[in-house]
Amino acid sequence: MTLPQETDILVIGAGPAGLAAATILAKTARVLVVDREATAGGIPRHCGHYPFGMREFHRLMKGPDYARALVERAVQAGVTIATRVNVVQLEPGPLVTVTSDAGLSEIRAKIVLIATGVRESSRAQRLIGGEKPGGIIPTGALQGLVYLEGRRPFRRPVILGTELVSFSAIMTCLHAGIRPVAMIEPNAEATARWPAALYPRLKGIPLHLSTSIRAIEGRERVERVIVDGPTGMQAIETDGVIVTGKFRPEATLFDGSHLEKDPKTGGPVVDNFGRCSDPAYFAAGNLLRPVETAGWSWSEGVAVARSIEAGLTGKLPAPATQPVTLKGDALSWVVPQRISVPSDGAHQRFQLRVNRKVKGRISARVGGVEYASLSIDTRPERRISLPLPPTAQPVEIVLEAK
Ligand SMILES: Cc1cc2nc3c(=O)[nH]c(=O)nc-3n(C[C@H](O)[C@H](O)[C@H](O)COP(=O)(O)OP(=O)(O)OC[C@H]3O[C@@H](n4cnc5c(N)ncnc54)[C@H](O)[C@@H]3O)c2cc1C
Repeated sequence: MTLPQETDILVIGAGPAGLAAATILAKTARVLVVDREATAGGIPRHCGHYPFGMREFHRLMKGPDYARALVERAVQAGVTIATRVNVVQLEPGPLVTVTSDAGLSEIRAKIVLIATGVRESSRAQRLIGGEKPGGIIPTGALQGLVYLEGRRPFRRPVILGTELVSFSAIMTCLHAGIRPVAMIEPNAEATARWPAALYPRLKGIPLHLSTSIRAIEGRERVERVIVDGPTGMQAIETDGVIVTGKFRPEATLFDGSHLEKDPKTGGPVVDNFGRCSDPAYFAAGNLLRPVETAGWSWSEGVAVARSIEAGLTGKLPAPATQPVTLKGDALSWVVPQRISVPSDGAHQRFQLRVNRKVKGRISARVGGVEYASLSIDTRPERRISLPLPPTAQPVEIVLEAK
């Protein structure tokens, strides 16, 4: 297809968040969704397992069926989807530069919604030493190879991490006849909630807690990993390493752009309407923070679409300037990071996370006066939320750990 040079709404990212928003917005505006992959649908395209779809289609679906259904629904609503289109630059206007089979081109829009999702941290980002053989991949790449290309990249890998996605990695391996030889977790407990942590044991995969990978060895392919755990250093013979989780928003587009990034989430700074620091740009889905489910990201797409509709008809309040600050070293991030008049926004509450196991009390304050609080006994990855303030004022969120 020939890429339009101009549209009402440009959505970057054809995952659950971008497609949800596009489907709603197509009722009143021209909507173009672009995605750099060859097929639309986002991450669920290669999650060949349940459970997806309960919020969106009121039935349990596997990831690829769910992704296809979201695409079909968007196309039926009148959305134009262009794949193999990689956005490379964002400028005021809004003006977006893309590369596609036709080369470099520009697209102008009234509003741009960025919904580029998350990705897992690489081996380099985790600072694991040793040689650089082949066979070290994140879960996303493993799922792509197994479910989309029918390949088996290794036979007896080690899995690093115990987040929910690490258990998807086990399911993907077993589906492809791959037998993981160990699951390695630096912390004393698995990150995912019980009973997920029982899963490796049920499948006969040893779970090494309080253990870190010190080095990966092998010339062309991985041959062994050197781990350091409660019984000291040991070598595990293996032919691959799956580095799972430690998600980061896919926010490289913001580097070098005029849009403000939040060092805590790694995604954009947004207000409670989902607006970025340039209010002609909105953001939704896992780009906002590491990490939520597909259903959550889809709901955010729906909610931000409502804000965009209001924006198109001039019904949004002036962009936010009131900041939200975090106090307490166990608090890792908050969304939204700016507050406009807090009525009917896409984000009705603050979302928060902690970076370690912590017990205590979280309070939200305006002008030093507490307006909401919560007792917590929680861990990283668990949802925490607090109400927005009654008026648009600077907010301080304080964690007092016991
Ligand atoms: C490996 C992995 C496994 C996961 N497994 C699950 C699971 O089992 N269940 C679950 O609920 N959640 C899972 N998640 C979380 C997942 O992020 C959400 O399910 C959901 O896909 C988020 O939707 P989204 O629309 O925000 O982003 P995504 O689904 O990630 O979609 C973003 C889209 O943006 C496109 N894109 C990115 N940058 C550009 C660019 N510059 N130009 C053009 N297009 C671009 C990408 O190609 C992608 O299609 C997983 C995440 C990962 C990384």
